[in-house]
Amino acid sequence: MIKIVKFGGSSVANSEQFKKVKEIVLSDDSRRFVVISASGKGKNADNKITDLLFLCHAHLEYNISCDNIFNMIVERFVNIKKELNLKYDIEKELDLIKSQLDKKIDLHYLASRGEYLTSNLMAEYLGYTFIDAKDLIFFKYDGSIDYEKINLALSEIIKTQSKLVIPGFYGALPNGKIKIMSRGGGDVTGSIMANVVNADVYENWTDVSGIMTADPRIIKNPKHIDAITYSELRELSYMGASVLHEEAVFPVKEKNIPIHILNTNKPDDEGTYIFDKCEDKDPNNIITGIAGKKDFSIITIKKNQMYNKLATMKDVLDILGKYKINVEHIPTGVDSISVIADCSKVSSHIFEVLMEIKTVCNADDVYVIDNIALIATVGRNMKKRSGISGRLFGALGKNDINIYAISQTSEEINIIIGVSNNDYENTIKAIYNEFVDKEKI
Ligand code: ASP
Repeated sequence: MIKIVKFGGSSVANSEQFKKVKEIVLSDDSRRFVVISASGKGKNADNKITDLLFLCHAHLEYNISCDNIFNMIVERFVNIKKELNLKYDIEKELDLIKSQLDKKIDLHYLASRGEYLTSNLMAEYLGYTFIDAKDLIFFKYDGSIDYEKINLALSEIIKTQSKLVIPGFYGALPNGKIKIMSRGGGDVTGSIMANVVNADVYENWTDVSGIMTADPRIIKNPKHIDAITYSELRELSYMGASVLHEEAVFPVKEKNIPIHILNTNKPDDEGTYIFDKCEDKDPNNIITGIAGKKDFSIITIKKNQMYNKLATMKDVLDILGKYKINVEHIPTGVDSISVIADCSKVSSHIFEVLMEIKTVCNADDVYVIDNIALIATVGRNMKKRSGISGRLFGALGKNDINIYAISQTSEEINIIIGVSNNDYENTIKAIYNEFVDKEKI
């Protein structure tokens, strides 16, 4: 049995958290490959080290001293070292970084130092071998993962070492330069490692006991999800449920390796399993989860007798693409096309965009409705079951919630509706009340 265990920033925020990690790792022999994030927020630690490193870089760019911020980083790491009686010469490493703090410092190198230093401390504390991610996690120049090179490097390493700590979030380009991933990328490193060692399970340790059916800020004590499919998780994460990095699913999905989300602070809690397919304990469970995001716009293009809808649609998408506006859905009518898009980046010149659409498409009218929230109701058990959308729309009708747009693909695991931002919370409550738990409103 091989487990990849990944600990997020809050799990390594201070020496107390380090102790919890050690207990978890050493309690199970199969936890031989440990991926670590940079020390994050926790008790007596108000900042993520990675945020502080990005902040140092931003200061240097504008020729402003970042000494105070860097000292906060030094203090955090030196405290962990002292409190755990470690020998690792972190002061020397920090001095080396400090000596390079000027305008020319590479952002990728600097931002990766959080995981590099935290992992060095953790490796000593666990009695494991530290492996620098720049010597194990490789990218091609197009940013894709070079599995072949990773496999070669790993097979060399495990000839002599069997218990490893690997920093998450970064790796190396073909020329050896460090490249960081997008924020939260430690999850992706864990997933890559699970893929290359053919792990039986990828344990992702964090500060919540798994995934909830809805945002706890909206639904008090929402029902916990025991098991969810990769596809359902993708839908929920895309719509704002933040549990795991969006891209962390792909490397494990390829090999059908389950992900197990667990809580470092409550290691005995069941957590949530993420599988390719889920056996359903309760077939009456129709909805797996609800998630949503606010602040979309609906742009509607009207043209009497829109004979060539495809050409109009193509023109509209070309214009939106030019302005780098992300399109989410395209509901269409006989003589109209609506585009649901995130216009926040162009809010100051949205009228230019609308005018351009009107002119190029020779449209009769183009108008925009702002402040739209999109809410996804996700569930693998909705497939081929009639009456689900009827119940959903009925529940919203009963609560006087007006629906501006509806979208569902033939995969049938997701019904997305657009409502006013003001109805966002009530919509989630109404759906939750209808499908998950009657007593919540
Ligand atoms: N330390 C990085 C971040 O804060 C990556 C991670 O935590 O996974 O985004």
